Amino acid sequence: MKFRSTVGQAPMVGFCEALLQGIAPDGGLYVPEYFPDVELTDFADARTPAQVGTIMLAPFARGSELEASLPVICQEAFSFPIPLKRIPSDSGPLYVLELFHGPTAAFKDVGARFLAACFERLNRNQQAPLTILVATSGDTGGAVAAAFHGRANTRVVVLFPKGLVSGRQEKQLCCWGDNVLSLRVNGNFDDCQRMVKEAFANPELNQAVRLSSANSINLGRLLPQAVYYAAASLNYWRAAGQKLNFVIPTGNLGNGQACVWAKTMGFPIGKIVFATNENRPIPDYLETGDWSPGASIATLASAMDVGNPSNMERLRDMLPRVELMREAVSAYSVSDENIRQQISRDEQARGETWCPHTATAAYVYDSLSESDKAQSWALVATAHPAKFETIVEPLVGHPVEIPEALARLLDLPTHVSDIEPVLEALVDAVK
Ligand SMILES: *Cc1c(COP(=O)(O)O)cnc(C)c1O
Repeated sequence: MKFRSTVGQAPMVGFCEALLQGIAPDGGLYVPEYFPDVELTDFADARTPAQVGTIMLAPFARGSELEASLPVICQEAFSFPIPLKRIPSDSGPLYVLELFHGPTAAFKDVGARFLAACFERLNRNQQAPLTILVATSGDTGGAVAAAFHGRANTRVVVLFPKGLVSGRQEKQLCCWGDNVLSLRVNGNFDDCQRMVKEAFANPELNQAVRLSSANSINLGRLLPQAVYYAAASLNYWRAAGQKLNFVIPTGNLGNGQACVWAKTMGFPIGKIVFATNENRPIPDYLETGDWSPGASIATLASAMDVGNPSNMERLRDMLPRVELMREAVSAYSVSDENIRQQISRDEQARGETWCPHTATAAYVYDSLSESDKAQSWALVATAHPAKFETIVEPLVGHPVEIPEALARLLDLPTHVSDIEPVLEALVDAVK
């Protein structure tokens, strides 16, 4: 399998190159040359995401250096449960697909762990470690640090803005040490991103250190995300004989895009609905046909505060006319006020404590038509509510229990260096 750039001005590359490059040299995003059609009978013995992933991702890795390692890469990436849990509904069957049982309690653990498992193997025979640079406003950096921590021949440098991430998020960014360098930047998230961009463009630094990225446009994060949609829909199909519809909390559209890919390959997925916060370029595009990304707006569902969702380029590449996209997906925007109400209401009505991101999906589900709701739906839960306790606890009126994996991280000692928001400070720290 080869991968082409959405811009179409760069040569096609293999699986490993697409992962290592992250973004294509023409500025486009890598997409598979074609989507293999799956035969559901090939999955007769596959139940867990690791088993489903091994079969489903094989065509993408075929002919690459990682082909033979794919089964163990999948085992390492899908090392925690991803349950599909039934919850109360007045209409048809309703489930929640809980993606937050990994080390940092958000779905980004899946993609980060798959990428780390690949990168470690791709660097086995290199003299110098590969250095992964990540600028983060919260969840991504923690997931990437956790995934690469302790992996041979790799190193992670995480930059985050001082005073602008939550206490628990900061702890997740700084509890690692060893091959993880945590840098608290005396600036904002844009400064962190600019410094990373400047570092990639700096010839001197690139001579001294082999740099790579792990951001959410990397194909090595998207492909494994398609696996949990495949596994959940396949298991549901076998149990209930029906397609499963999904409501997906959406920001940069990586998670949603992965579901579209799984459906395209032939897994028994019904409707795909994106729930956004007040950043609404995707719902607006589907409504008007005009793509007008803008600056991001700060909301309660902060991990979805994306004004210009990068993966829209992949979706538009697949579905170039708005009419086609409307047939494939829909999208609705949810206000902060409605996020708050949903968190309070579902604590009572469904006995579920949502994080602010997952609450957007629950709100959108409740707003669907009765005929839609008569079908089988899964709300995608992207993070554990304990990560956002300052928002959630006042709304539900009790402390949110911290999952064990997260509690362990919060107890570890802190390793962090403070730096000024200039490239020289980053270069000194990295070298
Ligand atoms: C990153 C994130 C999202 C948004 O996912 P995208 O792939 O960017 O659309 C939603 N919820 C949580 C908790 C996240 O960390």
